[in-house]
Amino acid sequence: MRMSRTFIPTLREDPAEAELVSHKLLLRAGYIRKLTAGIYIYLPLMQRVLAKISRIVREEMDKAGAFEITMPVLHPAELWQKTGRYNDLGPELMRLHDRHDRPMVLGGTHEEVVTELVKGELRSYRKLPLNLYQIQVKFRDEIRPRFGLMRGREFIMKDAYSFDFDEAGLDLSYQKMVDAYQAAFARCGLDTVMVESDTGAMGGKSAHEFMVIVDTEGGEATILSCPDCDYAANLERAESLPKEQPKSSSEAPRPRSAVDTPNAKTIEEVTDFLNVKANRLVKTLLYRSGDQLIAALIRGDRQINETKLAHAAGGPTVEMLDGPTVEKLTGAPVGFAGPVGLGREVTVIADEEVAVMVNFIVGANARDKHLVDVNLSDFRIDKTAVIRGAEPAERCPRCRKGRLVSRRGIEVGNTFKLGTKYSQALGATVTDDAGNERPIIMGSYGIGITRTAQAAVERFHDERGIIWPGPIAPADCHLVCANSDDAALARAADQVYESLTQAGLFVLYDDRVERAGVKFADADLIGIPWRVTVGAKGLAKGTWEIKRRDRDAAESAPFDQLVDRLKQEMWP
Ligand SMILES: [Zn+2]
Repeated sequence: MRMSRTFIPTLREDPAEAELVSHKLLLRAGYIRKLTAGIYIYLPLMQRVLAKISRIVREEMDKAGAFEITMPVLHPAELWQKTGRYNDLGPELMRLHDRHDRPMVLGGTHEEVVTELVKGELRSYRKLPLNLYQIQVKFRDEIRPRFGLMRGREFIMKDAYSFDFDEAGLDLSYQKMVDAYQAAFARCGLDTVMVESDTGAMGGKSAHEFMVIVDTEGGEATILSCPDCDYAANLERAESLPKEQPKSSSEAPRPRSAVDTPNAKTIEEVTDFLNVKANRLVKTLLYRSGDQLIAALIRGDRQINETKLAHAAGGPTVEMLDGPTVEKLTGAPVGFAGPVGLGREVTVIADEEVAVMVNFIVGANARDKHLVDVNLSDFRIDKTAVIRGAEPAERCPRCRKGRLVSRRGIEVGNTFKLGTKYSQALGATVTDDAGNERPIIMGSYGIGITRTAQAAVERFHDERGIIWPGPIAPADCHLVCANSDDAALARAADQVYESLTQAGLFVLYDDRVERAGVKFADADLIGIPWRVTVGAKGLAKGTWEIKRRDRDAAESAPFDQLVDRLKQEMWP
């Protein structure tokens, strides 16, 4: 690949449109260009990276016994209406109408289509298990597309779907995908952490995400993980043992009283005003889940976890009540709500930490007033559950020893045990030996191909540019002719290009008439793992310079040993 002939439009300056370092680098190094918000063109170098990631993923999927198919991007809306996701996914679902005004969908995932496919074809359980996958463009109408390929409206995904007769079969199919994912990411040169995650709008029982751990702003999700065992979960899902055993306090309950707390609405204002610690307060947060009104009680120094609260409430989601609704319900502005005296129409869900507290402080459901020395006998709790978010340094819920640590990651893959949500909605059943029809049990498995590419850049770069892991780099070697104006040097570089290419290496050859400094800067920016420099000094000495992108020091190799040296380094 000669740089003088191909299309690698590098930029000297950071593009203003990019926030994340990986997004900036992909634009600057000439890998991608934006067409419109959240929609990108993949240029020749990017195309090669995506092809390499896809090939690795494809090989691991095939090895795991999955079969590749290609499903349409354009779906009839009717299928999505049958599973309820036409509504559930809301505006994220990319919708359009055809010329007959029939509603259509641009697929963001293919559970509906693949279930419709197998429903007509799989009649007997003897045809199971089956796993079908594809690598294809997907659509999601993000409200605020940003971060380049990380939160785009059009992106490339590998999506796979498993079909089993029973739960045990699903467990096996799931494990095969987990193993394939770990192998695929490792082959891409990426360490990933598998974390427990929420099933969200996908439905189903359990789910995991595969995260690339990064120390940059690109780490979109917070993960809590245990250094002593393999427990890891995203923040929405993470659990923990309380830092201290919840005190069965020796304090005797005192009778409650009301105090004036003028304008003290936030936890900080109340604790300052009353001169107490936040863990003496109980926050009352008011939500709606479907038709149900909920008061969630958590300790003042904790954060609510809305996913856990939704689970406790038995709904798919919860939505915080707005100010006027809170005022109507409690008789006080936001900031003064409390559990004492709340009507039956509100379900009170208390965090388990609250359920052991004594003599605490709550809002009084009256403007500028709080109640102190409140005890559990003063109000009704309908349900106790863990609804607070886990926090770093709390103890691991699995091994019960390790202290959770917080890290940031980028999700590159996810796996879902779907169960029968889609097969039931669409009538995909198989007949067992006794002649009974049973819904097929499904799993769904995604890898973001474009996302993985950007995650690798977010993970591996320095101030000069990208440092690709070898297996997904767009080329094996970046050949720089230090002075392409010098005919003898250019001829020598052409020969090196020939011999490296013949040896099976893919070479990006900088044969442009440019200053050596410009070429080196571009080589660092583009980030090919190895650079070979053909320069005048080397020509005189009979050696060419070899340099690894992730090392500062360069070495030299005699002309006749260059190819062997590189091959040995790359494929030891
Ligand atoms: Zn642990």
